[in-house]
Amino acid sequence: MRKTGLNVLLVEDEVAIGELVYDFLDTLGYCVKVCKDVSSARLWLIDQRPDIILLDWMLPGTSGLDFARELHRHGSWSDIPFIMLTARNEEYSRLAGFQAGADDYITKPFSLKELAARIKAVLRRLQTMGDEEGVLRAGDLELNRTSHEVLVKNRPVTIGATEFRLLAYFMLHPGHAYSRQQIIDRVWGGDADIQDRTVDVHIRRLRKILEPYGIENWIATVHGVGYRFENRNSRRGS
Ligand code: CA
Repeated sequence: MRKTGLNVLLVEDEVAIGELVYDFLDTLGYCVKVCKDVSSARLWLIDQRPDIILLDWMLPGTSGLDFARELHRHGSWSDIPFIMLTARNEEYSRLAGFQAGADDYITKPFSLKELAARIKAVLRRLQTMGDEEGVLRAGDLELNRTSHEVLVKNRPVTIGATEFRLLAYFMLHPGHAYSRQQIIDRVWGGDADIQDRTVDVHIRRLRKILEPYGIENWIATVHGVGYRFENRNSRRGS
């Protein structure tokens, strides 16, 4: 199969997993570079730029999580998307991964098809973000991450800074249900001392902002979980 031109850096010390992922992504036409530890990944990144990094957590020397934080801080690497691969499935581990800037988190053992689907989803999401300088759209609702404007039917909407970040986060992940804690971590940042109740307050404000346009129900309450954004005007898969 011809190469898609997509470059993937896999940082994984387990040779068997490295080979499996390499072979599978290779059949999909991806160019894959496997590094067995962080120091070789750092060296490779000096003059190479992958489209995405798959990062194992437990690595000899610097851990994948520490490397994730390093990537996030590093000026020219901070915008490379990465997916954490790990056997650690506890919620606090997943949250630590996301707080370190992970775009997704896959627990081992994982299916190769799922891995490929997640890679595509992350890249598609970023592509949408990059379109037209960061404009996100859902029906008549438009959010511009560059100018920090929200428009409904091309008319500007007054929105607070927190509601803006909240709405941007939801619009980036339509259809995903998030717990209040996940929303706090992603919208306020993991270090923020924010109560679940505060999330509800801002959700209420956001709905009020959307109410005049009849789209407040796009911020759906998911009982027992939290909240989900969905464009109710569009059918699934469209
Ligand atoms: Ca490992």
